[in-house]
Amino acid sequence: MDQIDKNKPVMVTGATGYVAGWVVKRLLGDGMTVHATVRDPGNGEKLKELNAAADQSPGKIVYFKSDLLEKESFKDAMQGCGVVFHTASPFIMDVADPQKDLIEPALAGTRNVLGQVNETASVQRVVLTSSCAAIYGDNCDLEKTASGLFTEEDWNLTSTPVHQPYAYSKTIAEKEAWKINKAQDRWNLVVVNPSLVIGPGISPVTTSESFRIIKQFGDGTMKNGVPDWGIGVVDVRDLAEAHVKAAFATSANGRHIISAHNTSFMGMARPLIDRFGSAYPFPKMVLPKVMVWLIGPFLNPSITRKMIRRNVNYPWRADNSRSIRELGMSYRPLEESMVAFFQQLIDHHIVSPKK
Ligand code: NAP
Repeated sequence: MDQIDKNKPVMVTGATGYVAGWVVKRLLGDGMTVHATVRDPGNGEKLKELNAAADQSPGKIVYFKSDLLEKESFKDAMQGCGVVFHTASPFIMDVADPQKDLIEPALAGTRNVLGQVNETASVQRVVLTSSCAAIYGDNCDLEKTASGLFTEEDWNLTSTPVHQPYAYSKTIAEKEAWKINKAQDRWNLVVVNPSLVIGPGISPVTTSESFRIIKQFGDGTMKNGVPDWGIGVVDVRDLAEAHVKAAFATSANGRHIISAHNTSFMGMARPLIDRFGSAYPFPKMVLPKVMVWLIGPFLNPSITRKMIRRNVNYPWRADNSRSIRELGMSYRPLEESMVAFFQQLIDHHIVSPKK
């Protein structure tokens, strides 16, 4: 692979997103020209933090109106770009229609963006924001792995449009990206597969499921306890660094698990309890699986009994060594990410202390 030309502009899809925000900020900091695709460039309020990041950086941001579901929507934004970061895809658990709200934008969006890459001679590399959700479906899948760890060799074989539809959407979208990439030989594809992303966003307002989860730690939703549910997490700022390394390291190729910590819901709560004490209604105990099975679906309709059966009381463990070895990643401590994330919610009055 030739060296990636850093003098060409780069394109980032879904620039208003939680993950993309830090990717764009990081690229602007490096002095790059970023073609930022957004659904509504007229929404100044939503672009406030991106504009501030551009004002404080040597780089330049140019907005383009694009929608994953509109043909040729990315044509103008991609002209002259050397690297395309495709991050746009809905990350929401509680959806009315998984096919329309998750699967179609993920799959049709990947076809649309990568189809345009095929038509755009300047593009040398695509960095795709996939997910660990394309590697595993449920925690119990760990038992079927060769090494007792999820690795880049593993694919999610258990999610469907009705069971874990978000994970299904990410799996079929990443598979489609590899299929489109392998049908040509001009541009290469480098995939990042993050676990649950945590840490402060460049904006405190986002649609990302990450924010809903962290908010629930402090708004009383989890005050009676949390399930023993293993999970991997990574800081959004470290993930942005992974995107940049994936884009410009000449030898980068294939999939990369981007995950800092093999933890659990209680493991995520502990740094918050240590730092903020009893000021907020944090979870203090782990709930028995049978109780979660009985009441979980009533408290949160996006959690089904099948999900509880296949995830609760199972650990989550992934091998992040490829990201360290080949991308040179280093990861922040869990405490730093959780405390800074929660502090952002406090500062913006998204969570309030107990009366
Ligand atoms: P997010 O803040 O909700 O960002 C999603 C982005 O996708 C937004 O910019 C949104 O635009 C855009 N989008 C959604 N539907 C679109 C459409 N039809 N056309 C154009 N843009 C559309 O979520 P996020 O957490 O940053 O997720 C970004 C990426 O990271 C996704 O690919 C997600 O699967 C992946 N990921 C996230 C996590 C995590 O824990 N957060 C973990 C692993 C992977 P609007 O602002 O206009 O809605």
